[in-house]
Amino acid sequence: MTRTMTQPTLSSMDLFTARQHEQLLMFHHAETGLRGAIALHSTRRGPALGGTRWRPYPTTEAGVLDVLRLSEAMTYKAAVAGLPLGGGKAVLFADGKEQDAPCRKERLLAYGRIIEGLGGAFITAEDANTTVDDMTIVRRMTRHVAGIAAAAGGGGDPSPVTAEGVLSGIRALAQEVLGCGALTNVPVAIQGLGKVGMALAGLLVAEGATVTACDVSVEAVEAARCTLGIGTVEPEAIYDVPCAIFAPCAYGGVLNDHTIPRLTCRIVAGSANNQLAEERHAEMLLVRGIVYAVDYVINAGGLVNVAAELAPGGYDAERARLGVAGIGETLRRLLARARAQGISTERAAHQMAMEALAEAALAPVRRAKSGRYVRQPARA
Ligand code: NAD
Repeated sequence: MTRTMTQPTLSSMDLFTARQHEQLLMFHHAETGLRGAIALHSTRRGPALGGTRWRPYPTTEAGVLDVLRLSEAMTYKAAVAGLPLGGGKAVLFADGKEQDAPCRKERLLAYGRIIEGLGGAFITAEDANTTVDDMTIVRRMTRHVAGIAAAAGGGGDPSPVTAEGVLSGIRALAQEVLGCGALTNVPVAIQGLGKVGMALAGLLVAEGATVTACDVSVEAVEAARCTLGIGTVEPEAIYDVPCAIFAPCAYGGVLNDHTIPRLTCRIVAGSANNQLAEERHAEMLLVRGIVYAVDYVINAGGLVNVAAELAPGGYDAERARLGVAGIGETLRRLLARARAQGISTERAAHQMAMEALAEAALAPVRRAKSGRYVRQPARA
Protein backbone atom coordinates (compact mmCIF):
# COMPACT_ATOMS: atom_id res chain seq x y z
CA MET A 1 0.00 0.00 0.00
CA THR A 2 1.29 3.46 -0.83
CA ARG A 3 1.53 5.63 2.24
CA THR A 4 0.37 9.22 1.88
CA MET A 5 1.89 12.08 3.86
CA THR A 6 -1.21 12.42 6.03
CA GLN A 7 -1.26 8.84 7.32
CA PRO A 8 0.14 8.49 10.83
CA THR A 9 3.33 6.51 11.22
CA LEU A 10 4.65 4.78 14.29
CA SER A 11 8.20 5.65 13.33
CA SER A 12 7.37 9.30 13.99
CA MET A 13 7.31 8.68 17.73
CA ASP A 14 9.26 6.76 20.30
CA LEU A 15 6.92 4.38 22.09
CA PHE A 16 9.14 4.04 25.11
CA THR A 17 10.03 7.65 25.80
CA ALA A 18 7.31 9.80 24.23
CA ARG A 19 4.20 8.17 25.61
CA GLN A 20 5.60 5.70 28.11
CA HIS A 21 3.00 2.96 27.76
CA GLU A 22 3.38 0.05 30.12
CA GLN A 23 2.21 -2.55 27.61
CA LEU A 24 1.06 -2.90 24.03
CA LEU A 25 -0.54 -6.21 23.11
CA MET A 26 -1.23 -7.04 19.45
CA PHE A 27 -3.37 -10.12 18.87
CA HIS A 28 -4.60 -12.28 16.00
CA HIS A 29 -7.06 -15.08 16.69
CA ALA A 30 -6.66 -17.25 13.59
CA GLU A 31 -9.86 -19.33 13.98
CA THR A 32 -12.16 -16.29 13.97
CA GLY A 33 -10.00 -13.76 12.13
CA LEU A 34 -10.12 -11.35 15.08
CA ARG A 35 -7.26 -8.88 15.00
CA GLY A 36 -6.68 -6.05 17.43
CA ALA A 37 -4.51 -4.26 19.92
CA ILE A 38 -4.81 -3.44 23.62
CA ALA A 39 -2.68 -0.65 25.08
CA LEU A 40 -2.15 -0.27 28.81
CA HIS A 41 -0.82 3.23 29.24
CA SER A 42 -0.74 3.24 33.03
CA THR A 43 -1.86 1.00 35.89
CA ARG A 44 -0.32 3.26 38.55
CA ARG A 45 -3.66 4.31 40.00
CA GLY A 46 -5.36 0.94 39.44
CA PRO A 47 -6.41 -1.35 36.61
CA ALA A 48 -6.40 0.29 33.18
CA LEU A 49 -9.98 0.93 32.13
CA GLY A 50 -10.92 1.84 28.59
CA GLY A 51 -13.46 1.10 25.91
CA THR A 52 -13.15 -1.18 22.90
CA ARG A 53 -13.45 0.40 19.47
CA TRP A 54 -14.26 -1.73 16.46
CA ARG A 55 -13.56 0.05 13.22
CA PRO A 56 -11.56 -0.26 10.04
CA TYR A 57 -8.15 1.38 9.92
CA PRO A 58 -6.27 2.22 6.70
CA THR A 59 -3.15 0.57 8.14
CA THR A 60 -2.23 -1.45 11.22
CA GLU A 61 -0.01 1.46 12.26
CA ALA A 62 -2.98 3.82 12.22
CA GLY A 63 -4.88 1.49 14.57
CA VAL A 64 -1.92 1.14 16.91
CA LEU A 65 -1.39 4.88 17.01
CA ASP A 66 -5.08 5.36 17.80
CA VAL A 67 -5.00 2.89 20.69
CA LEU A 68 -1.83 4.47 22.08
CA ARG A 69 -3.29 7.98 22.01
CA LEU A 70 -6.66 6.95 23.39
CA SER A 71 -5.22 4.89 26.25
CA GLU A 72 -2.96 7.77 27.30
CA ALA A 73 -5.96 10.11 27.41
CA MET A 74 -7.79 7.57 29.61
CA THR A 75 -4.94 7.71 32.15
CA TYR A 76 -5.29 11.49 32.47
CA LYS A 77 -9.09 11.36 32.51
CA ALA A 78 -9.18 8.85 35.38
CA ALA A 79 -6.40 10.63 37.28
CA VAL A 80 -7.99 14.10 37.18
CA ALA A 81 -11.37 12.58 38.09
CA GLY A 82 -9.66 11.07 41.16
CA LEU A 83 -10.66 7.51 40.23
CA PRO A 84 -8.63 4.50 41.40
CA LEU A 85 -8.10 3.50 37.78
CA GLY A 86 -5.42 3.63 35.13
CA GLY A 87 -5.69 4.20 31.42
CA GLY A 88 -6.12 1.62 28.70
CA LYS A 89 -7.94 1.15 25.44
CA ALA A 90 -8.53 -1.54 22.83
CA VAL A 91 -9.10 -1.39 19.10
CA LEU A 92 -10.44 -4.27 17.04
CA PHE A 93 -9.68 -4.08 13.33
CA ALA A 94 -12.97 -4.29 11.42
CA ASP A 95 -13.01 -6.17 8.12
CA GLY A 96 -16.78 -6.22 7.57
CA LYS A 97 -17.19 -9.86 8.67
CA GLU A 98 -17.96 -8.71 12.21
CA GLN A 99 -21.33 -7.48 10.87
CA ASP A 100 -22.35 -11.13 10.60
CA ALA A 101 -23.87 -12.03 14.00
CA PRO A 102 -22.35 -15.54 14.46
CA CYS A 103 -18.90 -14.31 13.41
CA ARG A 104 -19.21 -11.28 15.71
CA LYS A 105 -20.13 -13.49 18.64
CA GLU A 106 -17.20 -15.86 18.09
CA ARG A 107 -14.80 -12.95 17.82
CA LEU A 108 -16.17 -11.33 20.98
CA LEU A 109 -15.77 -14.60 22.88
CA ALA A 110 -12.17 -14.89 21.65
CA TYR A 111 -11.61 -11.27 22.67
CA GLY A 112 -12.97 -12.02 26.15
CA ARG A 113 -10.40 -14.81 26.56
CA ILE A 114 -7.62 -12.40 25.56
CA ILE A 115 -8.77 -9.86 28.19
CA GLU A 116 -8.97 -12.64 30.79
CA GLY A 117 -5.35 -13.46 29.97
CA LEU A 118 -4.37 -10.00 31.21
CA GLY A 119 -5.54 -11.06 34.66
CA GLY A 120 -7.52 -7.91 35.52
CA ALA A 121 -4.87 -5.36 34.53
CA PHE A 122 -7.28 -4.23 31.77
CA ILE A 123 -11.03 -3.67 32.14
CA THR A 124 -13.00 -2.79 29.05
CA ALA A 125 -16.39 -1.30 28.17
CA GLU A 126 -18.31 -0.37 25.04
CA ASP A 127 -16.98 2.36 22.76
CA ALA A 128 -17.39 3.39 19.10
CA ASN A 129 -19.05 0.53 17.16
CA THR A 130 -19.37 -1.77 20.15
CA THR A 131 -22.48 -2.05 22.28
CA VAL A 132 -23.59 -3.00 25.75
CA ASP A 133 -24.85 -6.28 24.19
CA ASP A 134 -21.37 -6.95 22.77
CA MET A 135 -19.91 -6.47 26.25
CA THR A 136 -22.41 -8.97 27.65
CA ILE A 137 -20.91 -11.56 25.26
CA VAL A 138 -17.33 -10.62 26.18
CA ARG A 139 -18.32 -11.01 29.82
CA ARG A 140 -19.00 -14.72 29.35
CA MET A 141 -15.24 -15.17 29.11
CA THR A 142 -13.99 -12.60 31.60
CA ARG A 143 -15.18 -10.61 34.61
CA HIS A 144 -13.07 -7.68 33.53
CA VAL A 145 -15.84 -5.84 31.69
CA ALA A 146 -17.75 -2.75 32.84
CA GLY A 147 -20.44 -0.56 31.30
CA ILE A 148 -22.91 -3.43 31.28
CA ALA A 149 -26.69 -3.23 30.95
CA ALA A 150 -28.73 -1.77 33.80
CA ALA A 151 -30.82 -4.98 33.77
CA ALA A 152 -27.64 -6.96 34.51
CA GLY A 153 -26.75 -4.72 37.47
CA GLY A 154 -24.59 -2.26 35.56
CA GLY A 155 -24.84 1.45 34.85
CA GLY A 156 -26.13 1.00 31.26
CA ASP A 157 -25.55 3.64 28.59
CA PRO A 158 -23.24 6.27 30.15
CA SER A 159 -24.29 9.07 27.73
CA PRO A 160 -26.98 10.72 29.92
CA VAL A 161 -24.52 10.76 32.83
CA THR A 162 -21.82 12.23 30.59
CA ALA A 163 -24.29 15.00 29.71
CA GLU A 164 -24.93 15.65 33.41
CA GLY A 165 -21.18 15.97 33.96
CA VAL A 166 -20.90 18.47 31.11
CA LEU A 167 -23.77 20.45 32.63
CA SER A 168 -22.02 20.46 36.00
CA GLY A 169 -18.91 21.87 34.29
CA ILE A 170 -20.91 24.46 32.35
CA ARG A 171 -22.63 25.68 35.52
CA ALA A 172 -19.29 26.10 37.32
CA LEU A 173 -17.58 27.90 34.44
CA ALA A 174 -20.59 30.13 33.78
CA GLN A 175 -20.26 31.32 37.35
CA GLU A 176 -16.46 31.72 37.26
CA VAL A 177 -16.16 33.27 33.79
CA LEU A 178 -19.50 34.96 33.08
CA GLY A 179 -20.47 35.71 36.68
CA CYS A 180 -23.81 33.95 36.13
CA GLY A 181 -25.33 32.18 39.12
CA ALA A 182 -27.88 30.52 36.82
CA LEU A 183 -28.00 29.59 33.15
CA THR A 184 -31.25 31.45 32.45
CA ASN A 185 -31.00 33.15 29.03
CA VAL A 186 -27.32 32.21 28.66
CA PRO A 187 -26.79 31.51 24.92
CA VAL A 188 -25.24 28.08 24.29
CA ALA A 189 -24.32 26.58 20.88
CA ILE A 190 -24.20 22.78 20.75
CA GLN A 191 -22.42 20.93 17.94
CA GLY A 192 -23.91 17.44 17.59
CA LEU A 193 -27.27 16.18 18.78
CA GLY A 194 -26.31 12.56 19.40
CA LYS A 195 -26.64 10.65 22.65
CA VAL A 196 -24.76 13.24 24.73
CA GLY A 197 -25.59 16.42 22.77
CA MET A 198 -29.33 15.77 22.79
CA ALA A 199 -29.35 14.98 26.51
CA LEU A 200 -27.28 18.11 27.21
CA ALA A 201 -29.64 20.24 25.12
CA GLY A 202 -32.57 18.95 27.20
CA LEU A 203 -30.79 19.71 30.48
CA LEU A 204 -29.84 23.22 29.33
CA VAL A 205 -33.36 24.00 28.14
CA ALA A 206 -34.64 22.89 31.55
CA GLU A 207 -32.21 25.39 33.14
CA GLY A 208 -33.56 28.20 30.93
CA ALA A 209 -30.54 28.55 28.64
CA THR A 210 -31.04 29.73 25.05
CA VAL A 211 -29.85 26.78 22.98
CA THR A 212 -28.88 26.72 19.30
CA ALA A 213 -27.65 23.43 17.89
CA CYS A 214 -26.67 21.60 14.73
CA ASP A 215 -26.23 18.08 13.46
CA VAL A 216 -25.52 16.48 10.10
CA SER A 217 -28.51 14.23 10.76
CA VAL A 218 -31.75 15.87 9.61
CA GLU A 219 -33.71 13.51 11.89
CA ALA A 220 -31.74 14.59 14.97
CA VAL A 221 -32.26 18.28 14.13
CA GLU A 222 -35.99 17.76 13.61
CA ALA A 223 -36.30 15.80 16.86
CA ALA A 224 -34.54 18.58 18.80
CA ARG A 225 -36.71 21.28 17.26
CA CYS A 226 -39.94 19.42 17.93
CA THR A 227 -39.24 18.06 21.40
CA LEU A 228 -37.07 20.85 22.84
CA GLY A 229 -38.08 23.86 20.75
CA ILE A 230 -34.45 24.95 20.31
CA GLY A 231 -32.99 26.92 17.39
CA THR A 232 -30.89 25.06 14.83
CA VAL A 233 -28.34 26.03 12.18
CA GLU A 234 -26.45 24.26 9.39
CA PRO A 235 -23.46 22.30 10.74
CA GLU A 236 -20.79 24.62 9.30
CA ALA A 237 -22.55 27.73 10.73
CA ILE A 238 -22.28 26.59 14.35
CA TYR A 239 -18.89 28.29 14.83
CA ASP A 240 -20.41 31.67 13.97
CA VAL A 241 -23.43 31.47 16.27
CA PRO A 242 -23.27 34.36 18.77
CA CYS A 243 -23.05 32.60 22.13
CA ALA A 244 -21.41 32.61 25.55
CA ILE A 245 -20.71 28.88 25.56
CA PHE A 246 -19.79 26.58 22.68
CA ALA A 247 -20.35 22.87 23.41
CA PRO A 248 -18.66 20.51 20.92
CA CYS A 249 -20.49 17.17 21.27
CA ALA A 250 -19.84 15.55 17.89
CA TYR A 251 -16.27 14.64 16.99
CA GLY A 252 -12.64 15.65 17.57
CA GLY A 253 -10.32 18.25 16.05
CA VAL A 254 -12.99 20.97 15.93
CA LEU A 255 -10.82 23.58 17.70
CA ASN A 256 -8.32 24.52 15.02
CA ASP A 257 -6.77 27.40 13.04
CA HIS A 258 -9.94 27.84 10.98
CA THR A 259 -12.59 27.62 13.69
CA ILE A 260 -11.04 29.36 16.73
CA PRO A 261 -10.96 32.84 15.08
CA ARG A 262 -14.67 32.46 14.31
CA LEU A 263 -15.81 31.66 17.87
CA THR A 264 -17.71 34.39 19.71
CA CYS A 265 -17.99 32.47 22.99
CA ARG A 266 -16.17 32.97 26.31
CA ILE A 267 -16.22 29.25 27.19
CA VAL A 268 -15.76 26.01 25.23
CA ALA A 269 -17.35 23.15 27.19
CA GLY A 270 -18.55 19.99 25.47
CA SER A 271 -18.31 16.21 25.56
CA ALA A 272 -16.35 15.48 22.37
CA ASN A 273 -13.02 13.71 22.79
CA ASN A 274 -9.81 15.26 21.41
CA GLN A 275 -11.39 18.66 20.70
CA LEU A 276 -8.05 20.41 20.08
CA ALA A 277 -6.63 19.73 16.62
CA GLU A 278 -3.17 20.28 18.11
CA GLU A 279 -1.92 21.12 21.60
CA ARG A 280 -0.98 24.65 20.49
CA HIS A 281 -4.68 25.40 19.95
CA ALA A 282 -5.08 25.52 23.73
CA GLU A 283 -2.74 28.55 23.75
CA MET A 284 -4.68 30.06 20.85
CA LEU A 285 -7.88 29.88 22.90
CA LEU A 286 -6.09 31.40 25.90
CA VAL A 287 -4.88 34.34 23.79
CA ARG A 288 -8.43 34.89 22.56
CA GLY A 289 -9.66 34.95 26.17
CA ILE A 290 -11.73 31.79 25.73
CA VAL A 291 -11.77 29.36 28.66
CA TYR A 292 -11.45 25.78 27.48
CA ALA A 293 -13.03 23.12 29.73
CA VAL A 294 -10.47 20.45 28.85
CA ASP A 295 -12.32 17.61 27.12
CA TYR A 296 -11.10 14.76 29.29
CA VAL A 297 -12.00 16.71 32.43
CA ILE A 298 -15.53 17.76 31.50
CA ASN A 299 -16.52 14.54 29.73
CA ALA A 300 -15.44 12.21 32.56
CA GLY A 301 -19.04 11.57 33.67
CA GLY A 302 -19.35 8.42 31.57
CA LEU A 303 -16.15 7.03 33.04
CA VAL A 304 -17.26 7.89 36.58
CA ASN A 305 -20.51 6.01 35.88
CA VAL A 306 -18.71 2.97 34.48
CA ALA A 307 -16.20 3.00 37.35
CA ALA A 308 -19.09 2.96 39.84
CA GLU A 309 -19.78 -0.63 38.75
CA LEU A 310 -16.39 -1.66 40.10
CA ALA A 311 -16.94 -0.24 43.58
CA PRO A 312 -17.48 -2.68 46.46
CA GLY A 313 -21.19 -3.51 46.55
CA GLY A 314 -21.62 -2.91 42.83
CA TYR A 315 -23.26 -0.11 40.87
CA ASP A 316 -25.12 2.56 42.79
CA ALA A 317 -26.70 5.26 40.59
CA GLU A 318 -26.80 7.79 43.42
CA ARG A 319 -23.08 7.40 44.17
CA ALA A 320 -22.28 7.70 40.46
CA ARG A 321 -24.30 10.92 40.23
CA LEU A 322 -22.50 12.39 43.23
CA GLY A 323 -19.17 11.68 41.53
CA VAL A 324 -20.36 13.33 38.34
CA ALA A 325 -21.54 16.41 40.21
CA GLY A 326 -17.90 16.87 41.31
CA ILE A 327 -16.82 17.67 37.75
CA GLY A 328 -17.85 21.30 38.21
CA GLU A 329 -15.63 21.60 41.29
CA THR A 330 -12.71 20.01 39.44
CA LEU A 331 -13.12 22.61 36.68
CA ARG A 332 -13.13 25.43 39.20
CA ARG A 333 -9.81 24.17 40.60
CA LEU A 334 -8.44 23.75 37.10
CA LEU A 335 -9.36 27.30 36.13
CA ALA A 336 -7.93 28.75 39.36
CA ARG A 337 -4.62 26.95 38.72
CA ALA A 338 -4.46 28.07 35.09
CA ARG A 339 -5.22 31.68 36.04
CA ALA A 340 -2.68 31.71 38.88
CA GLN A 341 0.10 30.54 36.57
CA GLY A 342 -1.10 32.32 33.41
CA ILE A 343 -1.15 29.02 31.53
CA SER A 344 -3.78 27.28 29.41
CA THR A 345 -6.32 25.05 31.10
CA GLU A 346 -4.92 22.19 28.99
CA ARG A 347 -1.49 22.60 30.59
CA ALA A 348 -3.05 22.99 34.03
CA ALA A 349 -5.02 19.75 33.54
CA HIS A 350 -1.86 17.94 32.52
CA GLN A 351 -0.17 19.15 35.71
CA MET A 352 -3.11 17.90 37.79
CA ALA A 353 -3.00 14.50 36.08
CA MET A 354 0.76 14.19 36.63
CA GLU A 355 0.41 15.06 40.31
CA ALA A 356 -2.35 12.48 40.77
CA LEU A 357 -0.15 9.87 39.07
CA ALA A 358 2.88 10.76 41.19
CA GLU A 359 0.84 10.39 44.39
CA ALA A 360 -0.41 6.98 43.30
CA ALA A 361 3.08 5.79 42.48
CA LEU A 362 3.78 5.78 46.22
CA ALA A 363 1.11 3.18 46.97
CA PRO A 364 1.69 -0.37 45.65
CA VAL A 365 -0.91 -2.31 43.67
CA ARG A 366 -1.86 -5.85 44.70
CA ARG A 367 -4.19 -8.42 43.23
CA ALA A 368 -7.29 -8.99 45.38
CA LYS A 369 -9.08 -12.34 45.81
CA SER A 370 -11.71 -11.05 43.37
CA GLY A 371 -9.05 -11.05 40.67
CA ARG A 372 -9.10 -7.27 40.44
CA TYR A 373 -6.05 -5.13 40.99
CA VAL A 374 -6.42 -2.74 43.91
CA ARG A 375 -4.16 -0.10 45.37
CA GLN A 376 -3.07 -0.51 48.97
CA PRO A 377 -4.52 2.24 51.15
CA ALA A 378 -1.90 4.90 51.88
CA ARG A 379 -0.37 4.63 55.36
CA ALA A 380 -1.07 7.49 57.75
P1 NAD B 1 -23.14 10.07 18.98
O1 NAD B 1 -22.53 9.31 17.84
O2 NAD B 1 -24.39 9.57 19.61
O3 NAD B 1 -23.40 11.60 18.54
C1 NAD B 1 -22.58 12.32 17.69
C2 NAD B 1 -23.50 13.23 16.89
O4 NAD B 1 -22.69 14.13 16.15
C3 NAD B 1 -24.36 12.45 15.89
O5 NAD B 1 -25.71 12.83 16.04
C4 NAD B 1 -23.80 12.89 14.55
O6 NAD B 1 -24.76 12.92 13.51
C5 NAD B 1 -23.29 14.28 14.89
N1 NAD B 1 -22.30 14.81 13.93
C6 NAD B 1 -21.37 14.14 13.23
N2 NAD B 1 -20.68 14.98 12.45
C7 NAD B 1 -21.19 16.21 12.69
C8 NAD B 1 -20.89 17.52 12.19
N3 NAD B 1 -19.96 17.71 11.26
N4 NAD B 1 -21.61 18.56 12.65
C9 NAD B 1 -22.57 18.38 13.58
N5 NAD B 1 -22.92 17.17 14.07
C10 NAD B 1 -22.23 16.11 13.63
O7 NAD B 1 -21.96 10.21 20.06
P2 NAD B 1 -22.12 10.58 21.59
O8 NAD B 1 -22.10 9.34 22.40
O9 NAD B 1 -23.20 11.59 21.75
O10 NAD B 1 -20.70 11.28 21.86
C11 NAD B 1 -20.42 12.58 21.38
C12 NAD B 1 -18.96 12.91 21.63
O11 NAD B 1 -18.70 12.82 23.03
C13 NAD B 1 -17.98 11.95 20.96
O12 NAD B 1 -16.81 12.66 20.62
C14 NAD B 1 -17.67 10.95 22.07
O13 NAD B 1 -16.40 10.34 21.88
C15 NAD B 1 -17.66 11.87 23.27
N6 NAD B 1 -17.92 11.18 24.54
C16 NAD B 1 -19.07 10.49 24.71
C17 NAD B 1 -19.32 9.86 25.92
C18 NAD B 1 -20.58 9.09 26.15
O14 NAD B 1 -20.87 8.74 27.31
N7 NAD B 1 -21.37 8.81 25.13
C19 NAD B 1 -18.38 9.95 26.97
C20 NAD B 1 -17.22 10.70 26.77
C21 NAD B 1 -17.01 11.31 25.54
